[in-house]
Amino acid sequence: MKKKAADIVIENAAQILTCEKDAADHIGLIKNGSVAIGEGKITAVGSRSEIAPLIDAATRVIDASGKVVTPGFVDCHTHVVFGGTRVEEYCARLETDDLDELKRRGVPMGIMVTLSATRDLPMEELYEQSAERVRRMILSGTTTIESKSGYSLNTEGEMRQLKINRILAEKLPVDISSTFLGAHGWAPDMTKEAYMDMLIKEMIPEAGRSGLAEACDIWCDSGHYEKEECRKILEAGREHGMEPKIHAGAYSYVGGEDLAAEMKMYSADHLNYTPISALEKLAESGVTGVVLPGIDFAVNHPLFFNPRPMFEAGLELGMATNCCPGCWCTSMPFIISLACRQHGMPPARALRAATYGGACALKREDRIGSIEAGKQADILILDIPTYEDIAYRLGENPVDTVIRHGKISVQNGAVIQEI
Ligand SMILES: [Zn+2]
Repeated sequence: MKKKAADIVIENAAQILTCEKDAADHIGLIKNGSVAIGEGKITAVGSRSEIAPLIDAATRVIDASGKVVTPGFVDCHTHVVFGGTRVEEYCARLETDDLDELKRRGVPMGIMVTLSATRDLPMEELYEQSAERVRRMILSGTTTIESKSGYSLNTEGEMRQLKINRILAEKLPVDISSTFLGAHGWAPDMTKEAYMDMLIKEMIPEAGRSGLAEACDIWCDSGHYEKEECRKILEAGREHGMEPKIHAGAYSYVGGEDLAAEMKMYSADHLNYTPISALEKLAESGVTGVVLPGIDFAVNHPLFFNPRPMFEAGLELGMATNCCPGCWCTSMPFIISLACRQHGMPPARALRAATYGGACALKREDRIGSIEAGKQADILILDIPTYEDIAYRLGENPVDTVIRHGKISVQNGAVIQEI
């Protein structure tokens, strides 16, 4: 029987990176290959001659000769919905890290600045400020974004952030994985204990009922939430239909990583201070580690995360921009450059973490993150001769074309398909 003709064929790419689970050398490189797309899905990938019979008069053929084809980037950890800016703080801290001196100078600093900037902003403006960042992410090749709440720390404000996640997914050509992060901190006018009580009795049930969040996150660190407090909050999240994930090991090791393994969380993110024993537990329990090169760069972190013991432990790694007021980054290609140069990640590993690894961190690896028959057709055509050029060309946007759900969503440097 003749196979059904494809809607789109991307033909004769210099390199295709398939990035599936057991891909050779982590990325499954095919030279001079083609990809066929039909009804929003990838229908076949292989050599040019294998795919050629799927072309008929109605097929749109895209010539990718001299270019690189990869899965769409999966930016699996962001705080992209927020109001205002912290550019003044960022620049002041380039001069000194003496926080007392900065306070004396009256420099507005920290999450509380963003808290009031976000709470005070009308819904439409909060959407538009966030959408502007998301558009830039899309232009840089991101097809799925995880987006956390966490800059309101009251029920109404956190719900508003989750609603904006929903509207972003409806209006822009991007998939959003929405996360409730009411436990980003606690409200400035409350004790931690009182806030935890409100989280468990009011905020988490409300977020769960709304169906606006698929995961529940928390900041586990010294001076933030301790391991057992995290367990209470994340168990409450799970009871209300939100899967747990955790910020762990960013500035100290207090055991959040071990909790992630015990609870088989979606992901454990940051991992700067995580000991090898905890990395091994994460790997054994199938939890994805998520590393964030942008924040280490933006805050000039005292201890950069080290990917080598993570790879030795057999941990699947996702990688993300961590786009937030303290790390204003919308570019996964820039994050790949940082991961390679600043953290010594081989480019193939970085590419896998930016695609398949990110999909694993969102438990969407059955749908996205790789170029395989049956997967959602989220595909990038990059105007560079080799995938290593993503790491090598600093600050350059290599994106030529973005295909999402089998439709062209970015071409000639513009987002199309916007509603
Ligand atoms: Zn974060």
